[in-house]
Amino acid sequence: MSQHVAGLASEKEARDVAEAARESEWSGPSFVRELFLGRFRLDLVHPHPPDDPNEAARAKPFFDRLTEFLQRVDSDMIDRTGDIPEAYVQELRDMGAFGIKIPTEYGGLGLSYSSYVKAMAMVTSKDGSLTAMLSAHQSIGLPQPLKLFGTDEQKQRFFPRLAKGAISAFALTETDAGSDPANMHAHAEPTPDGKHFILSGEKLWCTNGTRADLYVVMARTPDAVVNGKQRKQITAFIVEASWPGVEIVHRCRFMGLKAIENGVIRFTNVKVPRENILWGEGKGLKLALITLNTGRLTLPASAAGGSKALLQASRTWASERVQWGAPIGKHEAVAEKVAMMAANTFAMEAIAGLTVGLAEHGHYDIRLEAAIAKMYNTEHGWHIVDDALQIRGGRGYETADSLRARGERPIPIERAMRDARINLIFEGSSEIMRLFIAREAVDHHFKTAFALVDKESSKGEKAAAFGRVMRFYPTWYPARWLGKGQVPGAFGEFGKLAGHMRFAERHTRKLGRAIFHAMVRLGPKLERRQLVLFRAVDIGAELFAMTAACVKARKLEKEGNTEASMLADLFCRAAEVRIERLFADFYGRYDREMYRVAQQVMRGEYAWLEEGIIDMIEPDEGGAAPSAARRERAVVTTG
Ligand SMILES: Cc1cc2nc3c(=O)[nH]c(=O)nc-3n(C[C@H](O)[C@H](O)[C@H](O)COP(=O)(O)OP(=O)(O)OC[C@H]3O[C@@H](n4cnc5c(N)ncnc54)[C@H](O)[C@@H]3O)c2cc1C
Repeated sequence: MSQHVAGLASEKEARDVAEAARESEWSGPSFVRELFLGRFRLDLVHPHPPDDPNEAARAKPFFDRLTEFLQRVDSDMIDRTGDIPEAYVQELRDMGAFGIKIPTEYGGLGLSYSSYVKAMAMVTSKDGSLTAMLSAHQSIGLPQPLKLFGTDEQKQRFFPRLAKGAISAFALTETDAGSDPANMHAHAEPTPDGKHFILSGEKLWCTNGTRADLYVVMARTPDAVVNGKQRKQITAFIVEASWPGVEIVHRCRFMGLKAIENGVIRFTNVKVPRENILWGEGKGLKLALITLNTGRLTLPASAAGGSKALLQASRTWASERVQWGAPIGKHEAVAEKVAMMAANTFAMEAIAGLTVGLAEHGHYDIRLEAAIAKMYNTEHGWHIVDDALQIRGGRGYETADSLRARGERPIPIERAMRDARINLIFEGSSEIMRLFIAREAVDHHFKTAFALVDKESSKGEKAAAFGRVMRFYPTWYPARWLGKGQVPGAFGEFGKLAGHMRFAERHTRKLGRAIFHAMVRLGPKLERRQLVLFRAVDIGAELFAMTAACVKARKLEKEGNTEASMLADLFCRAAEVRIERLFADFYGRYDREMYRVAQQVMRGEYAWLEEGIIDMIEPDEGGAAPSAARRERAVVTTG
């Protein structure tokens, strides 16, 4: 067994690995980064990036073909059988759907990122399993890291194959390495001549893995010594599915995305040429994280696309279905759902469009915007599918096949719900997104002042930190109390939305102050107060969403659309209520009690609460089911 295959990484080790892979420098300005520092830099996101008419014209033939194809696709059959027919995959290959962003010189369609995510939004409105296939290939599979980090030789070698429809997969997750890559066991040792690496290990939940021609595999390579310290190294390799030692061990099946080609892939002494390393030895985790930074822009757009379809189904049903003497949409409780669905869908599209627009601009660092877009849109998308199901009532819970069989319109809300749930988990779970955003939100304060409170820092480091603190805070802090949001009539160009922009400016400063106060009040303990940090993140996310919605409404208004302002206005009113609630309970009135009870629950101290059920967890070999064991312990401890 390799020296790398050890037990689970400690918390410190996990943090060190994540920190080493983190992009510590900012490659450009970021609206959200400024926002967490209490600075409302509207100029960074307003006006909304313009649409490119040339791009739209270039993309039209592809979109025409894609639309015609999707109208024909039998998604209920795909869901029922759990397989995407090869004929469909071939049609997608033929129209270039596997090479949307690949440059034309390599045989791809050469379309922009925004055309790509629009296509994914459209596919999602019809079929989540198809989105999973196309997006795992193009958002995180080989085309994306190849474009970002590939050498010219690698691009020449792989892009033409990928553009023709060779399917790729991204293999990072393992049984012990879910959101924490420090536990990665897959490893690759260099051969004595250094020309190859011998790769071994097993990857879990690899989307497209069971159908892929090519994998991007992240594996540990020998540790390196950096600044006198032993550092874990992770390297990204391009691996051919046809090579000896590559084996599909299991095809995984899920609650939704029934036809996703996802599996456990085993690599046993696979000989990988050094030329197949992407970017460089030891840069694999950073590559994976950077790939995900832009890769996760697909999910916000596809969540918005799915929500549009749900909105359409819900508003139709809410006006057609008559109960208690009126269409159900006339009853206030249903009307509320329809209205918020429309307002939230509008904001979701604004967030996705703005973030992609900024990414395409090239001069912005959009990692925080992308993380918020992923977290916010997938969570709102989930509420929308839940509301759509509620509006459809029993029909929402019934399968499309069953509805069709008894002569009703087969609206697949039940499938949409099953397909949407995973969005909050993969490509960075909601919790991991909040942690990532929180880490960046406090980064400036951390860099400026942390050495002052860190027990391990030297006298010299403390003195330097003191100098930085004295240079930054005496001007930054007082300026967080005054701003344009207090000036009546400010942001007048936003018309009836100006009040919302003033609210956003004032509350951005308030957020900057609140984060600073939390650092002063809690010091290094703040790191452990996830719920406090997450409230700050949620306020930041709401402020970003409000800004994106108003900026988009303003753009549409200039183009003659006046209804968009109504939606932006409603969205902002609701966001403001959420923001005020989050500030009012910033430190959490019962966070500590909650944490204490959670630990007690996990120790089995409330196992008596589980009496009278059939155990959900089957007994392990030779052992009792956990609840039985806990019940026994509870009896021992209480008796
Ligand atoms: C359908 C599907 C497709 C996938 N496709 C791919 C793919 O193509 N390639 C690939 O590499 N992976 C893929 N994955 C893996 C996916 O990215 C992981 O499921 C995800 O990273 C979370 O890992 P985990 O499920 O092991 O959860 P865990 O890391 O075990 O986390 C469990 C729960 O704890 C929370 N949690 C964990 N750590 C913390 C913390 N420090 N603070 C607060 N909360 C925490 C998580 O948010 C989650 O709610 C896929 C998974 C699925 C189900």
